[in-house]
Amino acid sequence: MTSVPHPASWYAATANAHPSYAPLLEQVDCDVCVVGGGFTGLTAALDLADRGYRVVVLEAQRVGWGASGRNGGQIVTGFNRSTGEMARRVGRDDARRLWDLALEATALLRDRVQRHEIACDLSWGYVLGALKRRHVADLEDTLAEWATLGYGAGRMLDADAVRAAVACPRYIAGLFDAGSGQLHPLNYALGLASAAVGAGARIYERSAAIEVTDGPRIRVRTAGGEVGADFLILAGNAYLPPLSPDIGRAVRSRVMPVSTYMIATAPLGRERARALIPSGAAVADLNFVLNYYRLSSDDRLLFGGGVSYSRVPPPGIARSLRRTMLRFFPQLADIGIDYAWGGDVAITRNRIPHFGWRGPRILFAQGFSGHGVALTGLAGRLMAEAVAGTAERFDVFARYPHAPFAGGRLLRLPALVLAMAWFRLRDLL
Ligand SMILES: Cc1cc2nc3c(=O)[nH]c(=O)nc-3n(C[C@H](O)[C@H](O)[C@H](O)COP(=O)(O)OP(=O)(O)OC[C@H]3O[C@@H](n4cnc5c(N)ncnc54)[C@H](O)[C@@H]3O)c2cc1C
Repeated sequence: MTSVPHPASWYAATANAHPSYAPLLEQVDCDVCVVGGGFTGLTAALDLADRGYRVVVLEAQRVGWGASGRNGGQIVTGFNRSTGEMARRVGRDDARRLWDLALEATALLRDRVQRHEIACDLSWGYVLGALKRRHVADLEDTLAEWATLGYGAGRMLDADAVRAAVACPRYIAGLFDAGSGQLHPLNYALGLASAAVGAGARIYERSAAIEVTDGPRIRVRTAGGEVGADFLILAGNAYLPPLSPDIGRAVRSRVMPVSTYMIATAPLGRERARALIPSGAAVADLNFVLNYYRLSSDDRLLFGGGVSYSRVPPPGIARSLRRTMLRFFPQLADIGIDYAWGGDVAITRNRIPHFGWRGPRILFAQGFSGHGVALTGLAGRLMAEAVAGTAERFDVFARYPHAPFAGGRLLRLPALVLAMAWFRLRDLL
């Protein structure tokens, strides 16, 4: 059987050599079945196999085929909401626990890359750039909050300092975070898969789970086989189909899949690339529909931004992203675009990841809302702990309240598009 390729992208073109895993064509038994071979599923599988569980991973396409193999590679400290906002929802103690867990997420990522010797260009340093006065105030608030939390890796950059870090004349200030960073996401995913297999997990690619039946033993059916398991971990995130009426109702209704896009320029040469981002940091701005970018190991600019709520690539997305990139870096007007691609992220209404249980033996984690590079690896760890009988830390997330998107799957889209149109307008002000 032929193997499906990863979707074309700069990441696929520069992927480390990797095996393809055979599809499931029989009935197999295991302790834990994991649906989805992205960062979430692979880290859960790795931790569980390390603990001695018999683990089967079902991946519909290829390991790292989803958002995990296509993203901006930006490792971002914390959540998409401030700890203060979280405290108003769940109280100060849980908000503090969530913050500590988010810090653990970046440490975990660093540790897994080191321990499993994953060649994924991991580096640290991150600049949040302020394009307008209200962004400066937001960054100052963030830094002040970090101080109260005892997080000392951040410092404000004035206009001169931010432009010394990133040669973009539009920034009027910035926040540097030494605890955030960047990596090659597809190579990280492929490395996690090898590590999981090394620890004893079995991975099946081209093996979409098409139906789940809960019972004394959970049964997960694919086109060619079936898995019997004591526990099921759902890690399909934006790509997860309903699988059962309950999963459709309780899991999928809490997230909205949204497509987002990236381009990679032609190689700029070392000197020109370094002149663009002398700090070598990953960079993002504070717009609601944010732009994020960084240099690649072969001296390209990898630039992300733009969203489609219909999940259909808007016509001319590469051209329009290039136009946005030129607003940040007019000095790249003579440079071509070699790659353009997109992928689906899952966002929750409150932008906090959605973890939970469906009965005592089915767990899920999804909706990382743009912070998944770091938080997925934490989700994997916490799900492994929960399966092993210690769910306290998983449950800090699981008790965070999440509302479904209003209007069900058909009506929530127009409502979301309207809401987003307002935020985009705000970005322009
Ligand atoms: C263009 C883009 C840029 C991004 N940039 C960043 C960034 O810079 N920083 C950041 O933190 N986050 C970013 N994200 C988000 C981040 O990539 C995700 O949060 C993260 O990768 C989610 O990982 P996951 O394992 O949960 O899901 P995914 O990586 O999407 O993996 C889910 C997998 O499950 C499989 N699957 C689904 N259903 C089934 C089934 N029924 N049976 C078997 N397999 C199934 C899919 O094929 C897929 O491979 C970006 C996302 C995109 C698309």
